[in-house]
Amino acid sequence: MITMKFGGTSVGDAGRLREITEIIRAGYGKRLVVVASAMSGVTDLLLSTARAALRNEAVKVREAVETLSQKHSQIAMELVSRPESRDRLFGYYARLLKDLDIIYQGVALLEELSPRSLDAIASFGERLSCAQIAAVFEDAGIAAEYVDTRELIRTDANYGQAAVDFAVTRANIQKALTPLVEKNIVPVATGFIAATKDGITTTLGRSGSDYTAAIVGAALGSEEIWIWTDVDGIMTADPRYVRGARHLEEISYREAAEMSYFGAKVIHPKTMLPAIENNIPIRIKNTFNPSHPGTLISGKTRGVSGAVKNVTSIDDLALVAVEGHGMMGVPGVAARIFTALARVGVNVMMISQASSEHNVCLVVPGKDRQCAVDALQKEFAADIGGKIIDGVRLREGVAIIAVVGEGMQGVPGIAGKTLTAAARENVSIIAVAQGSSELNISLVVDQGDVRRAVQAIHDAFI
Ligand code: ASP
Ligand code: MG
Repeated sequence: MITMKFGGTSVGDAGRLREITEIIRAGYGKRLVVVASAMSGVTDLLLSTARAALRNEAVKVREAVETLSQKHSQIAMELVSRPESRDRLFGYYARLLKDLDIIYQGVALLEELSPRSLDAIASFGERLSCAQIAAVFEDAGIAAEYVDTRELIRTDANYGQAAVDFAVTRANIQKALTPLVEKNIVPVATGFIAATKDGITTTLGRSGSDYTAAIVGAALGSEEIWIWTDVDGIMTADPRYVRGARHLEEISYREAAEMSYFGAKVIHPKTMLPAIENNIPIRIKNTFNPSHPGTLISGKTRGVSGAVKNVTSIDDLALVAVEGHGMMGVPGVAARIFTALARVGVNVMMISQASSEHNVCLVVPGKDRQCAVDALQKEFAADIGGKIIDGVRLREGVAIIAVVGEGMQGVPGIAGKTLTAAARENVSIIAVAQGSSELNISLVVDQGDVRRAVQAIHDAFI
C-alpha cells in the first residue's frame, strides 16, 4: 500500500487534476490511499476573507464565496462528465458554500474571529477539494471515496496547531480506510483538518497536509508515503542560486528535518514523526515528471563524499545582541531573553553565546527586529541603567547559511572547510552555531554575501 499526498498546486486546476488522475490510474490496483490539500490559494482566500468579514466588508465576502464557487464549478464542468455525479458534486459545493457564508455572516455580526472559527473556516478548502477529486477519479473509472478526516483524526483543542491523539486516530483510520482499500476503492482524505473529541473542527498547522499523509500512512502501515510536488525531489542547494546543485536520491529523516527547518521547504517538519516511529520511508515525487524516482527519506543514511548533503540559506533576518560585562556568571539572563521574546511572539531562529558570556546573540526574522529590540530593552531596562548590561544591539540585513548532513558527525574538519570556503570569497562570518547533533552548522553572514558564500561552500563539499 502507498499513501500519496497531493498539495494545493497539484490539485489547483483541471490540467493538474488530469495528471494526478493518470498517476492514480497507473497505480490503481496496488492499494492506494490519497490525501489532498485545498486547491492552491484557497486556504489563504478563506482566511483573508474571514478577516474581511470581521471588518464587515460584505462585498469582499460575497466576491470570495463567488470565486470559490466558480473555481470549483469549473473543475466539475471540465472533469466530471456524468450528469448525476456532476449534480451531486454541485449540490455538495452549494451546501458547503452556504454554510461558509453563514459562518462569515456570524463573524461579521458578532465582530469576533477566534482561532476556533478560523479553523472551521479553513476546513472548507480541503472539504471542497477532496470531494471534487473523488468525483473526478470516479468519472475516470477509478473507484474512489471522499473521506472527511475530521471524523478520523482526533486532536486537542489547540486551534491552528492542534496536537494529535495517535491512539484514537490510528484506530479510527484503520477501521474506516482498510475496508475501502481492501475493496480496491481509493480513499481521498482531506489533509490538514481534524476534530476534537467533541467534534469541533481543528487544523494541524499551515501546510499540514504532509503531516496528515504521514499520520494516515503510518496508521495503515503503508510501504511508503509519497509526497507529490512540482520538483524532482530534494537538491543539494537551491538551483536558482547555486551552480552545480544536484539531485539527492536518498537522505535520512533527520537530515530532512534539518533541511525543512532551514528553509529548504522540503516537507512539513512534523511529517517525519509518524514516519520515523513506524519506519515508513517518505518519497518526494514530481507530478510533472512521475517516472523520476524522486528523493527517498528513510531511517538509513547513505553517506556521500564530503559528508555534507545540502547547503541552504534563510534570507532577510536580523541579529540582536544583548551585551555587557556584568552578564558573566549571572544565571537567568538567557531565560529572561527568551521569555521576553516569547511574550511578544518573536521566534528565535538561532542563538550563539561565547563562553566569555559577554554577549548573547540571537537571529530573528527581519520583520520582527524592532519588536525584539523593544522587548529586550524593556526587559533589561534596570540592568542597562545599572550598567550590568551595556545594551541591546541590532544588526539588520543578515542571513543564515545552514550546512546539513548526517555524515558530518564525528568527522573533523567540516567546520574548518566551511569557514575556509567562505573566507576565500572574502565573506566575513558574523556568528556560528552547531548543535551537538553535529548534523548542522549554521553561519550568520551579511545578506549581500549570502549567495557567494553558499556557492563557495557548496563547491567545497559537493
Ligand atoms: N491547505 C492548507 C494550507 O494551505 C494545508 C496544506 O496545503 O498542506 O496550509
Ligand atoms: Mg501546501
